[in-house]
Amino acid sequence: MRSDFGDVPLTSIFPRLSPADATRMRQAADSVDAADWDWFPEHAVFPGPRSGTAVVLGRDVIVHADGSDRMEFSLHVVWTDGGRLAVDAAVNVACWCDTEHATHDVDAFRRVVGEGTSLPDAFCSGAERLKRRLADPRDADYWRARAGLPQRWVR
Ligand SMILES: [Zn+2]
Repeated sequence: MRSDFGDVPLTSIFPRLSPADATRMRQAADSVDAADWDWFPEHAVFPGPRSGTAVVLGRDVIVHADGSDRMEFSLHVVWTDGGRLAVDAAVNVACWCDTEHATHDVDAFRRVVGEGTSLPDAFCSGAERLKRRLADPRDADYWRARAGLPQRWVR
C-alpha cells in the first residue's frame, strides 16, 4: 500500500509504538520526504527468514539519470533473518560491470532495533543518513566512481 507518511497506520503495523514514538517517526519522515511511502501490513508480524528481505515500511527515491541509467536512494524498515526490526538506508546504482549484477548498493547503512536502540531511534538515524545522501550529487556515475565500480560504457 502507498500513501503519504501521515496516513501510514504506524501503530497498527508497529503495535509496540507509543503515540510519542509515532510522532518522532513522522517528524523524521517529514524531514526527508513525506510523500509516497510504501507499507506492507502482511509484514507487521515477522514472516520468518526468507530469501528476500521483508520490508515493513519504506521510501524509494528513484533517479533516472537518462533513459539507460538508474539510481535509487532508499529508507526501509525491514525484518532481519533473526526476527528483529532494522532500518536500512542505501544508495543503489545500476551495474555497468562486464558481469551483469543488475544493481549495486554503494552506501549501505543499517541500524538493528534491540537493546539500547528503539525503532524511532533507528528510524531517525536512517532518515538523517538519507537526508544527507539526498544532498549529495544525484548522479549514478559519481556514486559508481566513489565505490570503485566500472563506469558506464562509452558507446
Ligand atoms: Zn556489477
